[in-house]
Amino acid sequence: MDVCPVCSESFAEPTVTGLCPTCDAAERMGARKPMLAITALIVGAIPFVFSMSNTRSTTFSRNGQVVAETVTGMDYVALGAGVLAVAMGIAAVVPSIKRNDGKGAGLGGLAVLLGVYQVLRGLYLV
Ligand SMILES: [Zn+2]
Repeated sequence: MDVCPVCSESFAEPTVTGLCPTCDAAERMGARKPMLAITALIVGAIPFVFSMSNTRSTTFSRNGQVVAETVTGMDYVALGAGVLAVAMGIAAVVPSIKRNDGKGAGLGGLAVLLGVYQVLRGLYLV
């Protein structure tokens, strides 16, 4: 009999990871499917298809020709989704690094970058 280091249950069948069959399966699932990182990426991509902005554009014209146009305001979807993607991305990266899960860490890092970009877009800075 072995004792699982995660849930402290004793189990008869030895697994490669040294965890009980339940935790072993959970560990494999987590390593193969970085769900949180993927969800973070999806959230970060939402503003590309949907936006809710409150903008005001001001045009400056001289002799009937537009010489400059400024857009000020905020895109609330981009801002909200961006902040959420950054938070979820960080939450996905930290355990992935601890688990030596390069795929999860990479995808999570990508979600953080995407989130930062969406926040900048939401503020009309890019
Ligand atoms: Zn266990």
